Amino acid sequence: MRIDKLLSNLGFGSRKEVKKFLKKGSVSVNGQVIKDPKHHVHPHEDEVFIFGEEVEYREYIYIMMNKPSGVISATEDVREPTVIDLLEEEERIFKPFPVGRLDKDTEGLMLLTNDGKLAHQLLSPKKDVPKTYFAIIDGIVTEEDIQLFEKGVTLDDGYQTKPGKLHIIKSGTYSDIELTITEGKYHQVKRMFQAVGKKVKYLKRVSLGPLVLDKTLKEGEYRELTEEEIGQLK
Ligand code: URA
Repeated sequence: MRIDKLLSNLGFGSRKEVKKFLKKGSVSVNGQVIKDPKHHVHPHEDEVFIFGEEVEYREYIYIMMNKPSGVISATEDVREPTVIDLLEEEERIFKPFPVGRLDKDTEGLMLLTNDGKLAHQLLSPKKDVPKTYFAIIDGIVTEEDIQLFEKGVTLDDGYQTKPGKLHIIKSGTYSDIELTITEGKYHQVKRMFQAVGKKVKYLKRVSLGPLVLDKTLKEGEYRELTEEEIGQLK
């Protein structure tokens, strides 16, 4: 890999900025000052120093975001702001993408990474990765709904869902619930409630597999996953 690309990927600046650092002699590889941005390095093998400090090489980034309503879970869009637009340049250089989709008006846990293998595993229908949503439902959610969801419901297109675990937090004119499902069909939670004659007024994802939304993250905020969280995901 080119030294300028490596350092840029690691967050030391844009390719242009990194080239300047190289020119100034701020970078060494295996003890030799390197000024050529095209100089080839072997990540993990070569000892790279910048400003006198050894760089810690890493390839992947894992970000937990509390997605706000009003942004779309895509990498780019001509009209709408995306979850990637909420990131700083230092994360964007890793080219992360959202793992799965949340509707524009859905909030909560969104995982962003450039680790395609992990994303694939989390999204694979065969893996049955549980996803838990908190929702406010217009209307009274009943024990019968719990049973219906437990069996799986038929969506408007005839698709029979896998079982969902519904927990009623508070039932009333508006009900607070938590629903855990292992699939990710388009508008699935909204359509599951539609199948039992109810409407979702507010939706927020609170967990994805072992990952639980960090309550200290305000809407639109994000942080990198801890080593422990990354370990749990793999
Ligand atoms: N189910 C939905 O209906 N919407 C989402 O954003 C996620 C799950």
